[in-house]
Order: sequence, then C-alpha cells, then structure tokens
Amino acid sequence: MDNLRDLRNIGISAHIDSGKTTLTERVLYYAGKIHKIEDVRGGGDGAKMDHMELEKERGITITSAATTVAWKDHKINIIDTPGHVDFTVEVERSLRVLDGAVLVVTAVEGVQSQTLTVDRQMKRYGVPRLVFINKMDRTGANPQKVIETVEQKLGLTAVPLQLPIGLEMNFEGIVDLLSMEAVYFDGEKGETVRREPIPEALVEVARQRRQGMLEALSLYSDELMTILLEEEEPPMDLILKILREATVAQQIAPVLMGTAYKNKGIQPLLDAIVNFLPSPLDRDVKARDNLDEQAEVVLQPKDDEPMVAMAFKLVEEPFGQVTYMRIYQGMLKKGEFYYNTRSGKRARISRILRVHSDEREDIEAAGAGDIVAVMGIDCATGDTFCSEGINYSLESIYAAEPVIDLS
Ligand code: GDP
Repeated sequence: MDNLRDLRNIGISAHIDSGKTTLTERVLYYAGKIHKIEDVRGGGDGAKMDHMELEKERGITITSAATTVAWKDHKINIIDTPGHVDFTVEVERSLRVLDGAVLVVTAVEGVQSQTLTVDRQMKRYGVPRLVFINKMDRTGANPQKVIETVEQKLGLTAVPLQLPIGLEMNFEGIVDLLSMEAVYFDGEKGETVRREPIPEALVEVARQRRQGMLEALSLYSDELMTILLEEEEPPMDLILKILREATVAQQIAPVLMGTAYKNKGIQPLLDAIVNFLPSPLDRDVKARDNLDEQAEVVLQPKDDEPMVAMAFKLVEEPFGQVTYMRIYQGMLKKGEFYYNTRSGKRARISRILRVHSDEREDIEAAGAGDIVAVMGIDCATGDTFCSEGINYSLESIYAAEPVIDLS
C-alpha cells in the first residue's frame, strides 16, 4: 500500500430495512464512478465510460464480502457486515477486520434492536463509528429525536455535523455545519453537489447548531475551549483534527443525514468516512505468539515485516473457494507459501483479487492493512496465515465470550 494513511476498512451496519443495501449501492455508485473516471483519464479509450453508463442504468449491486472503492485519493474497502438476527461467529469475524463503521438508522424508527446488537459488538472490538440518519424524506422523520436516542440507547456522544434543509417530502439538502454552506444534491441520481449560502430562515439556527457542535468538541481539546472562551473563530484544521481524534477514540460519533433512496447526502458521508474514520495505522492489533507461550504481540502494519493475515470469510464460487483476508502486517504475495497456524499446513496463494464494484482485478501482491480475496488455499474462517518462521494466532485474542442475541 503506497500510503496506509489513505486506506479505510469500513463496514455499513443497520437494522433490517433501514436502507443499508440502498446506501451501500449509492456509495459504490459514486465512488465507483470516480474509479472509472480515473481509469479513462489514465489512458483508457473511453470504453470503460460506456460500461459505466450501462452500470448506471442497471444499478450496481453488492455481491461481494469486501469491495474496494476510491474516494478523493483514498481507498475504501467496504466489508459486508450482515446485521440480521442470525448473528453468528461469522458476523463477529467480519466486524473484527473493520477499522471503522457507519451505523445506519432511519429518521423515523431511530435506534432499533439490531442497531443495539451491532453497536455492542462494535464497542467490544473497539470500532469507531459514524451515524447516518437515513430516510429523511419519510413522513414522521425526526432527526433530533433520533440523535437523542442514539445518545441514550447507544451511550454515544452524538455530534451532528449537519442541519437538514426541509424535512419529510420537503427534505432538500443539508447545511454543512463545518463549512457553513447549504448543500443540495441535483440531478436524477443526486450526482451533483451544489453549494450555496445558507437560506435566510436557517442562518440563526445553523449558527446555534454549529456553536453546539464546537462546544461538544471543546470537551476533548483545551485549545478549542480557549478559542471559544475568547470568542474567536477556531481554524478548520483544528476542528477536523478533534473530530477525527475523538471519533477514533470512540468518544464521539459524528452524525450525518440524508436519503439513500433519493441520493441526498451520500457524498458528504464519503467525505466523513475518509476524514474521521481511522486508517489501519491508527489501531493496535494484537496476536498470540504460539512459539512463545502465547505471549501477546502487537502487529506492525508495515510491508517489510513478516506476513500475518486472517481469513474472515469464505465464499464458494463456481471456480473454487474464495477466501477474504485481512493482512495485518507484511505483504501477501501471489505464488508464495504461507503457514496456516491452526492446521499446521502450508498453502500456496495462486491468485490475489481486488474486488471493485463491477470487476475483479488480479494483483500480484497486497500490503499491510489491506483486505483482498485470495484463491488456492483451503482453510476455515478465523484461521491465521503467517510467513515461515513465525507462528501467530489472531483468533484466540478475540474469541472471548460468545455472543447471544436475545433481541
Ligand atoms: P436494508 O434491509 O437495510 O438493506 O434496506 P434496503 O436498502 O433494502 O431498503 C429497505 C427499503 O427502504 C427499500 O424499500 C428501499 O427502497 C427503502 N429506502 C431505502 N432508503 C430510503 C430512503 O432514504 N428513503 C425512503 N423513503 N426509503 C428508503
């Protein structure tokens, strides 16, 4: 990975019917579009563009356990995190490879039973989260109430970064409380972002909400507290830094809103994912060293370390088993042998695939922090693979108490 700081491994979780699938498709659509445009600029003949147009007509569907998209110089791996009642160890495994998550709730129902279950899991694995309030267009939408229930039921300090412009069928866009602009989403698929001055009627309430946001953030920064006491305008860099650090430390959850259905608010959500959720460098991952009485070791997300990866999802495909892996340190290389520390067997990686929203790309190697699909190995989920010479297990660290969902 060229710059690990620009990588995000995230999941999108929700109670069933909150719009998780629709939202994920929108994210793939916008970020996938960027990917294609870059391809064309990179010397393609435009054929990809036509393909994209087709894709646009058909709508992109998620079929993969992990999909890679690009957004503003960042790479985002979106890991499928099933949120249904069949809550199993499989789901847990998909949660533990995440560095951050988007918790989707609806503007009408707010926090529901499955939201609580998933949130509890994420807390257990220390996964920082953003909250996206979806379905702002629905009758009965009440984002303010939802924000209160997020705080009460999830015990998160919710920090709204936006103020809605209109509600229910009149939901038009949002006021960005960071830049203090009105943001509208034009075009049939909400593809164009139009920024304008805040409508007169909302100027005062936007000012108050921004003040509220800054006061909430000042609890995590003496520097900001001093600036506010002196009634000065804090620099944007400082606000972004506090938002990021407090989110990564799981002290706050930034809140965004929109409608996946009508494509309003997706681009600001992508911005928030890259701005506030952590990169693999921001998290400590530990393993057990089986050669040293299972002593704890902290894995180093660097390419020049011995390779350590965990298989978190197996998918049977017509052409064989595809194993989704997260690489925690070192580089995973095609053609190399690695050691399965559970079974004691060596396995050769015959192919490494990066899964984009509409194509699979064969790659030669993948670096620390990344998530890829590999072929040619036989294993179970939860298995750890290592370079020769080391013998670590990731699973035992996390396989703490079993989780039973009673909701
Ligand atoms: P999932 O079960 O969480 O994956 O939810 P889906 O994406 O399948 O959406 C459930 C239903 O809600 C579908 O009928 C969607 O069309 C609808 N839906 C999704 N997002 C929105 C939204 O922003 N507003 C409205 N009104 N409906 C939505």
